Amino acid sequence: MNSWSNWAGNVVATPATIAVPDSLDALRRAVATAAEAGHRLRVAGSGHSFMPICATDGTLIDLERLAGVESVDPDTGDATIWAGTKIHAIGEPLFRAGRALANQGDIDRQALAGAVSTGTHGTGRGFGSFASMVRSMEIVGPTGDLVTIDAGDGDDLRAASLSIGMLGVVSRLRIATIPAFKLHERSTPMEFDACQEIYPEVESANRHAEFWWIPPLDMCVLKTLTLTDEEPRGGGPDPEFPPGTIERYIKPEKIDWSYIVYPTARNQRFVECEYTLPLEDGPAAMRAIREMMRSDFPNVTWAVEYRTVPGETAMLSPTLRQECATISVHHPVDEAWESFMMASDALFRSLGGRSHWGKMHWLGREEVDALYPEAEAFRTFRRRYDPDGVFLNDHLEPLFS
Ligand SMILES: Cc1cc2nc3c(=O)[nH]c(=O)nc-3n(C[C@H](O)[C@H](O)[C@H](O)COP(=O)(O)OP(=O)(O)OC[C@H]3O[C@@H](n4cnc5c(N)ncnc54)[C@H](O)[C@@H]3O)c2cc1C
Repeated sequence: MNSWSNWAGNVVATPATIAVPDSLDALRRAVATAAEAGHRLRVAGSGHSFMPICATDGTLIDLERLAGVESVDPDTGDATIWAGTKIHAIGEPLFRAGRALANQGDIDRQALAGAVSTGTHGTGRGFGSFASMVRSMEIVGPTGDLVTIDAGDGDDLRAASLSIGMLGVVSRLRIATIPAFKLHERSTPMEFDACQEIYPEVESANRHAEFWWIPPLDMCVLKTLTLTDEEPRGGGPDPEFPPGTIERYIKPEKIDWSYIVYPTARNQRFVECEYTLPLEDGPAAMRAIREMMRSDFPNVTWAVEYRTVPGETAMLSPTLRQECATISVHHPVDEAWESFMMASDALFRSLGGRSHWGKMHWLGREEVDALYPEAEAFRTFRRRYDPDGVFLNDHLEPLFS
């Protein structure tokens, strides 16, 4: 029997078939074969989502063999990249072409199409999520047909870029890049109140800023990344200190090319809930989660991450046309995490937050409609691209059918 589980291990599936196509034609055949067999079909990237958005008992597609940076357009800088390419395999080839991704998240283990499909983001209001970098995408539809969607196609790209894999199997993406750049990473410990007070100013003055609140110490670590022309220095191995310690978040000062500086190591398995709130509501929400954790969950040691992100245009984007703050809570997956995650989800939702699609949430269809103003518009596109629901699963069907 086939089996699949996500990175955290909280989602397991037993697909009838696992297909690992090694060419575009093989992918198209695998999709057509699945549809003919009456299978539903999902794609797994790196399985770093905490929600059951890859799970299927039909056909699971693994695109690890459809990987690599195919080309970089010397005029526009746009890079054509196979969907299964891991983010950590993109930095070097882009760098050789003098280019870089404008922003990245905490880690670089995800597959490009997985990061795009869930709106994976870093921090910094000037630079959006992976979904926002998509100039065009090639997808394989439910009969194995091939469609290219680009920015000139009306609202199609706004539906397809952040679609949790519901419009088809993404095979290739054209991604916007910018000239290669170096970053200077600094992190500073400080009291919670001081960090709250200083963050808006620091965040406005630096290319990227974020902070971590460490519950057992009631301390924060404020991290900034700024542009620099200085020679690379610092860095080296990035040991992973235990959660709840300040050393885990205070990194040695470092200067290097962006794709080397952005990612951090995350080896201890956890689950995470992240909600996005309008920028001005972020500080109050941060105080609310801190209060709840101190009163109801005093034993949770894992830090809470606070980032700021730009408004975006993808229909399902949690930051739809609005600058936002994102707040993420974490819990080791091998200890009981449900009550803390559910309480965090309920709190953020009561404050009007929108969930990250790859992270823990308990949204039903009504909540999706209340929180995501273009959810129904997205469903119209989904029905057009996949009328028989081949790309749905038991988790997505009630929300988006
Ligand atoms: C340690 C860790 C750190 C993280 N850090 C961040 C962070 O800093 N910022 C952030 O925003 N998120 C973060 N996340 C969440 C993570 O980036 C997202 O959940 C992302 O989707 C994972 O990428 P993946 O390749 O593992 O995708 P998967 O989880 O494998 O898939 C995600 C979705 O994309 C679909 N999909 C994948 N490939 C294709 C394809 N070719 N065609 C169609 N659909 C496809 C899948 O079916 C699924 O619906 C983190 C997660 C972990 C575990």
